[in-house]
Amino acid sequence: MKELTCIVCPNGCTLYAEETEAGFQVAGNLCRRGEEFAITELTNPVRTVCSTVATAFPRVPVIPVRVSREIPKERIFDVMEEINKIVVSERVEKGAVLMEDVLGLGADIIVTSSILSEQE
Ligand code: SF4
Repeated sequence: MKELTCIVCPNGCTLYAEETEAGFQVAGNLCRRGEEFAITELTNPVRTVCSTVATAFPRVPVIPVRVSREIPKERIFDVMEEINKIVVSERVEKGAVLMEDVLGLGADIIVTSSILSEQE
């Protein structure tokens, strides 16, 4: 039996999950999303990544970014290394793709703020 904290919503339910011959057993969840989260955690845990990247603009030295879809949990540090290599030299808009298909994981690195395009 594995104890987990559901991170799908702010309730943060404590989940108890295990795989049995009859399938996955999950307890402690207040809704079905918690069950899905627990099963994913036992089989292929994934996470979203939010971070910042450097820019070439002194008045806006960093801008926020995130991955366009969840990535395997064990690849977070690899993806962060790629994010840390980015330096934005154009006034990109919110939603701009800075890196496509990072490390072949099927996720893009996208800008989540318009602050750079709004600055003079
Ligand atoms: S089980 Fe449902 S209610 Fe509980 S934290 Fe997860 S998503 Fe929220």
